[in-house]
Amino acid sequence: TAETGSPYRVVLLGANGVGKTAFASIFAGAADSMDSDECELCGDEMCEKVIEVDGESAAVTLVHALFGDAYLLLYSITDRASFLRASELRIILRHFRPAQHTPIILVGNKCDLVRRREVSVSEGRACAAVFDCKFIETSAAMQHNVWEAFHGIVRQLRLRRDSK
Ligand code: GDP
Repeated sequence: TAETGSPYRVVLLGANGVGKTAFASIFAGAADSMDSDECELCGDEMCEKVIEVDGESAAVTLVHALFGDAYLLLYSITDRASFLRASELRIILRHFRPAQHTPIILVGNKCDLVRRREVSVSEGRACAAVFDCKFIETSAAMQHNVWEAFHGIVRQLRLRRDSK
């Protein structure tokens, strides 16, 4: 049974080059997420999709804006500056949304690039703990854990919905 009401608006946030376009491309269902032609499909447009999470359909729209219902806060594990940027963005989000408990998942992308790793798993996890949000490492290149991130955000939105 599909959930009624407007779709969940999920924002992809993070420094340049961390993989936001690659995430959007996987979400949009482009055949090859690393193909730049395909990525443009999702470049600046909204993508809306109905996805199934835990046996229940959820309408999700990816929005390119600061305000959404939930955030995937991306950094690249190969780029420490993008990790620091994610922390800054987390603080900014908290100022925008002090009262509400907006679902956020801290996403360490490019975990396939093991030899170029600059941010350890434990650092990512510790940062998420401080910021009181979930944490996941992904590889858009390998299509590893990307859907888990989207599903995780829908689960958190449902928890919030159900507790209202
Ligand atoms: P954006 O600026 O956040 O939208 O980043 P992009 O999605 O454009 O990605 C920047 C570059 O990193 C592109 O060359 C992507 O192909 C590459 N990239 C994105 N995700 C991954 C990943 O998980 N692993 C690897 N190895 N490269 C990735």
